[in-house]
Amino acid sequence: MAIERTFSILKPDTVEKNKIGEALAILESSGLRPVAMRMMHLTRKQAEGFYYVHRERKFFGELVDFMTRGPIVAMVLEGEGAIAKYREVMGATDPAKAAEGTVRKKLGANIGENAIHGSDAPETAKFEIGYFFPGYELG
Ligand code: GDP
Repeated sequence: MAIERTFSILKPDTVEKNKIGEALAILESSGLRPVAMRMMHLTRKQAEGFYYVHRERKFFGELVDFMTRGPIVAMVLEGEGAIAKYREVMGATDPAKAAEGTVRKKLGANIGENAIHGSDAPETAKFEIGYFFPGYELG
């Protein structure tokens, strides 16, 4: 399988609960390797731009409120089949439906506050990585 890169966010709830290390430990032990990382507090404009595809969804306002209420950790993860592997280790959107051992099962509170974000396809990964990391910062 090809080496891929995917994009990850440890969301404000994970940072608030002091669970950055716990989330990273699950990701790293699944074979994903962080190759870029930054901590930042998103503005509403930045969060709205990132979640542009969801702008018509009824939870859009709530999602932007949540993603801007505290700092996040944005990362690029690399590994074999990283996009699909990360979706698997992340778990279902609703933590109540997520499989045992996944990050969302372990750290997510509900369908909105679900601990982490991960790209769902190669095109999305490309857009999301570029949104947070200029090319010159990536090897
Ligand atoms: P993901 O790819 O598993 O993150 O799921 P989606 O792309 O469908 O949704 C993006 C994000 O929007 C989710 O991770 C949640 O944080 C949030 N979200 C999704 N559904 C709901 C909902 O019904 N209510 C709220 N408040 N947030 C939601």
